[in-house]
Amino acid sequence: MEKISEIFASQVFSEDVMRERLPKEVYKSLLNTIANGKEIDAGIADVVAGAMKDWAIEHGATHFTHWFQPLTGVTAEKHDAFLSPVGHGKAIMEFSGKELIKGESDASSFPSGGLRATFEARGYTAWDPASYAFIRDGSLYIPTAFCSYTGEALDTKTPLLRSMDAINNAALRILRLFGDGVTSRVIPSVGAEQEYFLIDEEDFKARRDLFYCGRTLFGAPAVKGQEMDDHYFGSLPTKVSAYMHELDLELWRLGISAKTKHNEAAPSQHELAPIFCTTNIAVDNNLLTMEVMRKLAPKYGMACILSEKPFEGMSGSGKHNNWSLGTDAGVNLFKPGKAPADNKQFLLFLAAVIKAVDEYQDLLRISTATAGNDCRLGGGEAPPSIISVYLGDDLDAIVHSIIEGSAVANKKKKYMSLGVSSMPKVRQDTTDRNRTSPFAFTGNKFEFRMVGASQNIAFANIVLNTAVASALTDFAVELESVGFSEGNLDAIIARTFREHKRILFSGNSYSKEWEKEAQARGLSNFKTSPEAYAHFTDEKNVELFGKFGVMSEAEMRSRREIFFGNYRKVKNIEAKTMLEMTIRDFIPSVSKYVGVLSESVGARLSVLPSLELSAEKDIIERLSVLLSRTYAAYNELLRAENNAVKKCDEEAAFYYKTSVAPKMEALRRVVDEMEVLTAREYWPVPTYGDITFKI
Ligand code: ADP
Ligand code: MG
Repeated sequence: MEKISEIFASQVFSEDVMRERLPKEVYKSLLNTIANGKEIDAGIADVVAGAMKDWAIEHGATHFTHWFQPLTGVTAEKHDAFLSPVGHGKAIMEFSGKELIKGESDASSFPSGGLRATFEARGYTAWDPASYAFIRDGSLYIPTAFCSYTGEALDTKTPLLRSMDAINNAALRILRLFGDGVTSRVIPSVGAEQEYFLIDEEDFKARRDLFYCGRTLFGAPAVKGQEMDDHYFGSLPTKVSAYMHELDLELWRLGISAKTKHNEAAPSQHELAPIFCTTNIAVDNNLLTMEVMRKLAPKYGMACILSEKPFEGMSGSGKHNNWSLGTDAGVNLFKPGKAPADNKQFLLFLAAVIKAVDEYQDLLRISTATAGNDCRLGGGEAPPSIISVYLGDDLDAIVHSIIEGSAVANKKKKYMSLGVSSMPKVRQDTTDRNRTSPFAFTGNKFEFRMVGASQNIAFANIVLNTAVASALTDFAVELESVGFSEGNLDAIIARTFREHKRILFSGNSYSKEWEKEAQARGLSNFKTSPEAYAHFTDEKNVELFGKFGVMSEAEMRSRREIFFGNYRKVKNIEAKTMLEMTIRDFIPSVSKYVGVLSESVGARLSVLPSLELSAEKDIIERLSVLLSRTYAAYNELLRAENNAVKKCDEEAAFYYKTSVAPKMEALRRVVDEMEVLTAREYWPVPTYGDITFKI
């Protein structure tokens, strides 16, 4: 058995490896780049590249690839051998600083949302020294940013890095006012809990909806669902446990600190949580985790499903984005301390988050808007599409007494007694859990729970970092102008809580009453993605990203276009999959079964003419009616789908939402009705019951 300490990060060109292999000056200069975002010196790139190559080759790599995050939502890579011909049919293994720093790839096959039309098809990948290179499957992976010929970001990493700079600058400005002269960098950190489903690979392949769309588009509920709550935290099936073990090992080798694993609420659903780290690395790690999860499953005869709502009527999969701010010395700026009511620095940072979430609730919602996540949000087991903040009882009391101007008291630590004298006293947490809140303070961090399981978490963090940077900057500007004093601080904190108290909510976010109340409070509620996307380029949002240099208006417009385009494509594929399954699988199978029943009725009647055959006759009749209804629903969907063809992406996205989706729903209902009446052996695809309880 390998020791974790030995395998951890063994495939990573980590700081330790750098220290070991780079000349001291080069190492120091690189570290300065990583820690302080200083531009890399071209001279040292060659040295770093050489060391990287040697290390990679020693670890069995033959190729290198710039690894980037285009706007497709998944990662991209193009592998080149380290090979360089030297004449006489000979070659050497080579890798230069130039190859490390910059790659060129044809951007025309990646979404650019119009940025490409006005510029060139050329795209460049640029080394991100702040994310570690690593080895997978014989290739050295170099994390890179991806941009157009003129420098517009065509990826998610570039704006993320820019947003990290923005929040660093803003937070430092506040810390300096509080007299902090030592902190040199403030870093947003993230821990992303990843939910996923594991099902039998054969079942996955046997259903084209799962195969093409990652979610079932048909399927009557199984006799048993998740009502017994016996899966959550239940013991792990052997196969799953073996898979999780190998997954951990593989992730550890890649330096990903996978820590917690357990069963989730729905049958076949699980979760993995890593230990939090710097945001850009957490993003890379989460993308890698998803990839490793997917690739490893077939080895165990399983398929890993990361989409947001694979099965109707069962819990969907999300990604809890735990977010906080820490200094380079490791101090968490959201740690309330023993007396939060007197901790003005904490209260000011808290106020910044509350203001940011309220002012940019639309952007936060947009950052989680995908066709897949629409099926999950508001589904009664996931947050609704309304953003609100949950603080927990103690903090809520403090914030409200500040708002009301009444005396503020810090709560004493409470202990729970379990009534057993031999058991230790357990200290109560200051926040209870409110699982229904989309944005919850959980002790020393905020947990944003709306992000979908298959999404890149970068976007949500770009919004969070920039919005909070903006609030902190407003505070800094004001404090610098009116003077830093206890009284002025108190005034800003109280005013901010008062102005943004509408975003605070402690009740049940899943309830119908909340939706009404939220509307009365003027909170935005974009139920579907197209409604959300339409607001991405609202003036205040363009101003926000522009002010902090996170995204230009052109970059935002291109993303807006890509959002609509992606939504349209997903819906289009779903509709086509439904049409195909209906006409080629369901109708023929049910018709065959009806034929068999009819034959049997005929045969038996010829032997026993007076026999009562009500069961068969009744089923034949009901299925025949359903077959006709299915065919009618099929034609309706086909017509609706054809009407979408000529529309532009934005128009088509809205059209799919309002006109095609209801037709898809109608077709599903009638097919599901047929399913429960059709003999098991004639139903052409594995059912919910088959799939979710098999492993
Ligand atoms: P739960 O499921 O109860 O929310 P988990 O332990 O599964 O808790 O996940 C909590 C996540 O939050 C982990 O990924 C953890 O590393 C992360 N986390 C803890 N502290 C911080 C912090 N200060 N900043 C960001 N993430 C954090
Ligand atoms: Mg959580």
